[in-house]
Amino acid sequence: MTNKLATENSQLRAQLKLLLEQAHRNQLIMQRYQEFDLNFISANTFQELIDSVFDTLTEASELDVVTLSLIDPDAEIRRILSDLRIDVSDYPNLIFVEKNDGVDELSHPARKPSLGPYNTMQHRHRFPATVLKPASVAVLPLIRRNALIGWLSLGSLDPARFTPNMASDFLQHRASIVAICVENVINNERLQHIGLTDPLTGVNNRRYVERRLLEEVGRTQRHGYALSSMYIDLDFFKKVNDNFGHQGGDEVLREVAARIKAELRLSDALGRFGGEEFVVLLIDAEIDAAIAVAERIRGSICNTPLILTSGEKLRITVSIGVASVDRIDRKEMIATTAQQLLAKADQALYLAKQGGRNKVMSAA
Ligand code: GH3
Ligand code: MG
Ligand code: MG
Repeated sequence: MTNKLATENSQLRAQLKLLLEQAHRNQLIMQRYQEFDLNFISANTFQELIDSVFDTLTEASELDVVTLSLIDPDAEIRRILSDLRIDVSDYPNLIFVEKNDGVDELSHPARKPSLGPYNTMQHRHRFPATVLKPASVAVLPLIRRNALIGWLSLGSLDPARFTPNMASDFLQHRASIVAICVENVINNERLQHIGLTDPLTGVNNRRYVERRLLEEVGRTQRHGYALSSMYIDLDFFKKVNDNFGHQGGDEVLREVAARIKAELRLSDALGRFGGEEFVVLLIDAEIDAAIAVAERIRGSICNTPLILTSGEKLRITVSIGVASVDRIDRKEMIATTAQQLLAKADQALYLAKQGGRNKVMSAA
């Protein structure tokens, strides 16, 4: 009898120990999720948000692969990211979908998380060829105001990690938090973007370029690489407005902006400064390199005639002034250097106009 009690007692103790260990593990998991939630909610920028999803969540949930798919029909999100100088090809786990491709909708009309073994037909869009193939997956629809905005897809190499009968309330809760944060961050970036974008041409505005210029002068001062600027002004633009109307003039401005942009690197900055004047900042470019880029821009504008939507054809030219700075003395004021750089490019532009237009001139 005593023996039986003692055995029972030790079995109960062992069970209790297991339960306590389990509770402790669960507590640690909860703690890690809470850390992820805090980290995620405090993301202010898209960059912070995707880093949080791909690093913190993967680690906190001990997952092997996490992807974030966003429905972006007009490529608006991608345009904002490109203007923020985020190269989406650096993030194979960030997937853009033109429209709701319906794969998940067909099998899960209630838009509930879908858990189970990886199935190529069903999951290939969420785990494309560029990412690790999981054995089991949880695909969580991201829903805001009753609209599907994308999917957070979790994958594990353990086939038993996600099974169809598993409770998914916890994952659904996580998906709601992720959906709110994704929407918030995109809205924030969109607002910032609107405030720094020229509505006519879609390139940056003066405010953006002036802000970037201060940042870049500071960087040049710290790291000692060269920074060049360009002032670009359309030649005889008044005549364009006279001959083709203000609307025709606007079309010309849009096309010229696009041609300038096509000659630049992602790291360079282009802004419309005023009526028909553009400013370009070339990062890590000496004066000779900047002159070469300016010549390319000049050529790409004057060599190919523009065709307006009315069908009318016209030839446009631009004059460009180029200036550079390098090795700025640490004692020099950033704002003064920035002003001087633009003033020098403006003076060079004046010389290009004086010299007959359709020219590139550089400041001494
Ligand atoms: P120059 O070769 O000396 O630069 O001659 P220009 O005719 O281009 O002279 P200027 O730079 O002084 O003229 C700028 C003109 O640009 C005046 C204005 O009518 C026009 N403009 C300014 N902003 C806009 C705009 O947003 N849309 C259109 N269509 N025209 C604009
Ligand atoms: Mg002009
Ligand atoms: Mg002008």
